[in-house]
Amino acid sequence: MNERIQKRIDDMPESCRGIYQKAMKGKSKAAGVKAFCLECMGWNRAEVKRCDTVTCPLFPYRPFRSPENINGGAF
Ligand code: SF4
Repeated sequence: MNERIQKRIDDMPESCRGIYQKAMKGKSKAAGVKAFCLECMGWNRAEVKRCDTVTCPLFPYRPFRSPENINGGAF
């Protein structure tokens, strides 16, 4: 494995490694979005759920949405 990718894996919480590795296999765009959002929010799932950056192009696709923040007030 590329050593930069391995370093990234080593530096993230164990709970996020599976989704990152799935994304890096290049076969799941959903895993790619999930891993990106997790990394964006410091690998904190609760923070992804609270994301209100409606200008982010990944906002409509972000994971862990709840019914009350499904649109985040964007539309
Ligand atoms: S949607 Fe939110 S959590 Fe996901 S990448 Fe954009 S700003 Fe980060």
